Amino acid sequence: MVTTPDTTVVEEPRPSGPEGDALLEVSGLRKHFPVTRGAVVKRQVGAVKAVDGVDFTVRTGQTLGLVGESGCGKTTTGRMITRLLEPTDGRIVFQGRDITHVSQGAMRPLRRDIQMIFQDPYSSLNPRKTVGSIVGAPFHLQKVATEAGVKKAVQDLLDVVGLNPEHYNRYPHEFSGGQRQRIGIARTLALRPKLIVADEPVSALDVSIQAQVVNLLEDLQDEFDLTYVVIAHDLSVVRHISDQVGVMYLGKMVELGDNESLYSGPMHPYTVALLSAVPVPDPSVRGGRERIRLQGDVPSPLNPPPACRFHTRCWKAQEVCGQVEPPMVELRPGHQVACHFPENAPADAENRVAKAAGIA
Ligand code: SF4
Repeated sequence: MVTTPDTTVVEEPRPSGPEGDALLEVSGLRKHFPVTRGAVVKRQVGAVKAVDGVDFTVRTGQTLGLVGESGCGKTTTGRMITRLLEPTDGRIVFQGRDITHVSQGAMRPLRRDIQMIFQDPYSSLNPRKTVGSIVGAPFHLQKVATEAGVKKAVQDLLDVVGLNPEHYNRYPHEFSGGQRQRIGIARTLALRPKLIVADEPVSALDVSIQAQVVNLLEDLQDEFDLTYVVIAHDLSVVRHISDQVGVMYLGKMVELGDNESLYSGPMHPYTVALLSAVPVPDPSVRGGRERIRLQGDVPSPLNPPPACRFHTRCWKAQEVCGQVEPPMVELRPGHQVACHFPENAPADAENRVAKAAGIA
């Protein structure tokens, strides 16, 4: 159990709403980065549509896994949720409050509630600071703790994340990659956040360490009543930790579903391809499943393909795919997909999608 440091303000546990209530609601979220030309007089010649209309809801105490290849917009989405990036359009509602365009000043108290775990445990920790001052920094920044209480609170946090509290005065270079990520997680927990956005939390770690860190995140979720958005390029990383999984491609959400439904019956051809690449150790479980190798690279978000953005790489593509954008349609309970010809879908799926797209 972590003790709370002596505080200059009342440090009562803050209610985060009953389990199952919407904690984070994202709708129509967009981030377009302008592309400019000209050395002296700059003029905009285009925009990189890094995120281009993304919707999802994360319920209290649950985990959304956001998955996709590099450049699909998942990290940009995470950075907009934590307001490290200003959205171009759309809405972010946290605990019923619209935080889409709140000022940095107004965001400051909210930083206690919304924290981020970064991908690279090597570069995200200041090498000149001791572990004690790194993990204790949020208490000082938010002015919520007296000096006397910080050390005890930090040592308790180190204990909770599986590190030796006696290592309080050591420096980051004295720890392994997995231990450094644990230090980053301890720092994130310091202010008892409600929502943590974890951006590729294990991708920089050895495979043997990845499961330990994922298990730690799961344990902490129960102990601290945390809600997570976990970003990963690999569906296998988020499988065991996510209640809901969103698959992104070129700035769009192409499939969003409950964990069980998505892994047992992926409907979007892109998700099917990603899942086919996940290694299955037991050949009898793998069955006749063949690996689907996608042709070509992800197109540039500066000039994405029209209509279904995946049509240049999809083995099921037909003419309509390059002409009409498929809308997100809930084809199974709690499971939506944006595809004219989904896999593993109910018999009337194509009609329902065509109707929603206005072409039936
Ligand atoms: Fe493939 Fe067409 Fe579905 Fe796009 S809409 S994923 S191109 S089948």
